[in-house]
Amino acid sequence: MNILITGANRGLGYHLAKVGLERGHFIFASVRASTPQAIQQLEQLKNDFPQNIEIIELDVSCEESVKRAAQIVAENEQHLDSIINNAGILLERDKQIEELNIDEVTRSLDINTIGPIRVIKHFLALLEKGKKQSIINISSEAGSLTNAYSGDFPYGLSKAALNMLSEKLHVALKDKDIHVYSIHPGWMKTDMGGNKAPTEPSDTAKGIFEIIERKLEIQSQYVFIDYKGQPMTI
Ligand code: NDP
Repeated sequence: MNILITGANRGLGYHLAKVGLERGHFIFASVRASTPQAIQQLEQLKNDFPQNIEIIELDVSCEESVKRAAQIVAENEQHLDSIINNAGILLERDKQIEELNIDEVTRSLDINTIGPIRVIKHFLALLEKGKKQSIINISSEAGSLTNAYSGDFPYGLSKAALNMLSEKLHVALKDKDIHVYSIHPGWMKTDMGGNKAPTEPSDTAKGIFEIIERKLEIQSQYVFIDYKGQPMTI
């Protein structure tokens, strides 16, 4: 399968790229900025799997950048089988509403919610040429409306809205047999999740590939699920 991953240089995105390559897929590993430091780990993957990975620049906050990346993938009549919207930020962590920097609230929505919209807008045509297609939006339990908690205001908002995007796409793309999921990846050991997190991002990545490869049976009404395929509370 041909798979696009956003934010593939570190954290879950990197592990998705690595696990995908180990399972024989072709990975378009996209990164916000392809500086030598940012893509160091991906270059190592390219040494190990030279035929199966292309590193491309894609800043989800910039439509021009997303459009350019889609043109690169489209060259040589390429297609996609899965889009993984993984890139995300957690700003204004633990702040109360009176303390919020509104620009940071806007930036959170721009990257976590509008970012996936930009990506799907420009890559959907390539996905429609694929097989067993899926769109995976990496969400969070922080986006659950019924389990809302105080704090992380912009992050929670951005992921709840991302869940709505997934629900709407699920309806819009059902007839084309494109599976759309919002996936809670667990509390993971990454820069965002910190050292105390109980979940290894490599385990999350393996679970997500079981879903992409359609090895896990998920009832058709569920869109918001965890990385083991279990339904989450909207
Ligand atoms: P990290 O902070 O470790 O990595 C975030 C990734 O997103 C980086 O590759 C970063 O690139 C990229 N990114 C940020 N902004 C942009 C942008 N404008 N364009 C392209 N890429 C960008 O996060 P995690 O790996 O932990 O998180 C991955 C996903 O999982 C996120 O969507 C997050 O919300 C979600 N999640 C994480 C949890 C956890 O416990 N860690 C829990 C629940 C959900 P760069 O290096 O260039 O900044």
